Amino acid sequence: MAASGMHPTSGSLPTEVDVAVVGAGVVGLAHAAEAADRGLRVAVVERDARPVGASVRNFGHACVTAQVGVALERATYARQRWLELAERAGFWTAQTGTLVVARADDELAVLEEFADTRPVGDVVLLDADGVREHLATAPTEVVGGAWLPKDLRVNPREAVSSLATWLGERDGVTISFGTNAMGVEAGALHTTAGSIAAERIVVCVNHDVDRLLPEVARAASVRRCWLQMLRVAVPAGVRIGPGVLSGTSLLRYGGFAACPSLEAVRRRLAEEHPALLAADVNLMCTQLPDGDLLLGDTHDRGPTVAPFSRADWDDLLLAEGARLLGLDDLRVIERWQGVYATAPEEFLVAEPLPGVSVVSVTTGIGMTCGFGLAREVVDGW
Ligand SMILES: Cc1cc2nc3c(=O)[nH]c(=O)nc-3n(C[C@H](O)[C@H](O)[C@H](O)COP(=O)(O)OP(=O)(O)OC[C@H]3O[C@@H](n4cnc5c(N)ncnc54)[C@H](O)[C@@H]3O)c2cc1C
Repeated sequence: MAASGMHPTSGSLPTEVDVAVVGAGVVGLAHAAEAADRGLRVAVVERDARPVGASVRNFGHACVTAQVGVALERATYARQRWLELAERAGFWTAQTGTLVVARADDELAVLEEFADTRPVGDVVLLDADGVREHLATAPTEVVGGAWLPKDLRVNPREAVSSLATWLGERDGVTISFGTNAMGVEAGALHTTAGSIAAERIVVCVNHDVDRLLPEVARAASVRRCWLQMLRVAVPAGVRIGPGVLSGTSLLRYGGFAACPSLEAVRRRLAEEHPALLAADVNLMCTQLPDGDLLLGDTHDRGPTVAPFSRADWDDLLLAEGARLLGLDDLRVIERWQGVYATAPEEFLVAEPLPGVSVVSVTTGIGMTCGFGLAREVVDGW
């Protein structure tokens, strides 16, 4: 980071490019990378001094296998793209897969039904001992689980920023941090650093579509979803390779939605753990390279983000996280909120003006699918 706090590769805005991108989160940078790899001149404008949006506040979890349909297709490309870009830009990835921990027979039944819908090897069913091979501390209540070997992890605090550095150093690419986009019209983007002429403009501002193009947000019913997250220290030496999902995660991802036993999971969790459903918790975690865990997450939704985090929800995450992992001495190091766009559809791709695209992942899978979405948008040109 430069002494000013501005991202080190921040450059001044050119007056004309082929493609102007608004937003330096994973979705905006994915578009910039696709366009640059096709030899186009690209400028990215980002209002903040460095990436601090959803793309750095998440688990860094490419939850590929649990997707279905078009999201799975996008995730499959994104997986390959994360690996390739990690190599080119030099950031950390872990091909450790995901461990789904089942602590009730109905959860295991969902995983068995899910495995039946997938190619052999994509969903490896486990008994309790098999779960312990991936998660040595797993509690006694574990009945089994599944390992999803294709899933990936990146360090969200590093990956997007490294991508911006690498892109900003490429010929024909400029990333201007601290530059707010104020208005867009066909062929021109107006910013706090002046206007830029561009044949293509891509608006990748996550939930803030309503600030720049309110009619697009209204037509797609985009709202904000805000989540509480914790960074916790674990006892020395605890290593958890895969991302860890729980029974609540089965209720969330599209891949599990058609499993007949899912309703039984929902009913039981509502009876036994009403607080988890009231906070709309997806209990999961990933481990950062330094050993700390990213533990989350709760969900709340509305047009405007509630300014106050709920302490009782943090306590719930901590207690349930400890129970899931079989670790009773977790210590909170950081707390934060992340926000993403939410809408009835999983993806928003609109062209409100000629040459102007608005692209947003409208559920919590942008790290998993963002690159796949960007490729399709750029291919569509
Ligand atoms: C807590 C949490 C956990 C999550 N976990 C996962 C996960 O494990 N796996 C997964 O796949 N997904 C996960 N997600 C979802 C994922 O993080 C998002 O879908 C993804 O990061 C969205 O990327 P983005 O680039 O659209 O948004 P952002 O990263 O928010 O980037 C948008 C950028 O646009 C900029 N911007 C906005 N308006 C303007 C303007 N007018 N001018 C200039 N710049 C502007 C913002 O400053 C911001 O930097 C999670 C999200 C959260 C919040």
